[in-house]
Amino acid sequence: MPVAELKDTITFLGTGGARFTIAKQLLASGGAWMNLGGVQILMDPGPGSLVYAIKHSCDPTKLNAIILSHKHLDHSVDINVMIEAMTEGGWKKRGSVFAPSDAFNNGAVILPYLQGFPQSVEILEEGGGYAVGDVEFTTPVKHIHQVETYGFIFRTPRHRFSWITDTRIFDSLADHYKADLVIINVLSFEKRLPVDHLSLPDAEELIRQIRPKMAILTHFGLTMWRTHPWEAAHKVSDDTGIKVVAARDGMVFDLAEVDRI
Ligand SMILES: [Zn+2]
Repeated sequence: MPVAELKDTITFLGTGGARFTIAKQLLASGGAWMNLGGVQILMDPGPGSLVYAIKHSCDPTKLNAIILSHKHLDHSVDINVMIEAMTEGGWKKRGSVFAPSDAFNNGAVILPYLQGFPQSVEILEEGGGYAVGDVEFTTPVKHIHQVETYGFIFRTPRHRFSWITDTRIFDSLADHYKADLVIINVLSFEKRLPVDHLSLPDAEELIRQIRPKMAILTHFGLTMWRTHPWEAAHKVSDDTGIKVVAARDGMVFDLAEVDRI
């Protein structure tokens, strides 16, 4: 296919985050399935990732990579079954797995017997740069979270976008994630220190600092769910003058939408 026809899409398998939203499945979980010009990457395969992937016609045997931002269960619990699916039960040595070092050792969430199944396993580090086919990504800064955690800047031949995963807000955070499209994990509606997560006011502050063309909010905890993420996104949009939307379970986002803004 000519490059002009290639698309970059993100399917939000689930938009729920943290224990209560996940335990009751008030929102689905399972991470995001990115199809970046045919390079298929699953990020943060939380609970139900396999089932939701199949439901949304994403084929785990076609995966090129699985990326884990950190090992908390709401991000990682399906990683083993997805590695097995990606490698067809270990019979086909294929695909890559990227995760922080503590996902492999010291309370590993990736089972030792599966660690040899993919074609490559790479450890995420602060300032690291990685590639899957013609898709490149970096992990610019270590986040402030209970376990080793990174966010991402992805670059495809067509688009560049950043994803700020779980973290407490800190001074230079926005500087690391400048992009036309920013995806932000927003756990709570109000600032709830000392929780190591972003709240809606934190997200608004980041959006003001980064000034992307567009921001997508996801990974909602109970207080965000109760107050309706799409209404919260609308308010941040009105306040900042920047297009902000809330991801919905199963939403397929085409990055060409950012080009049109
Ligand atoms: Zn977490």
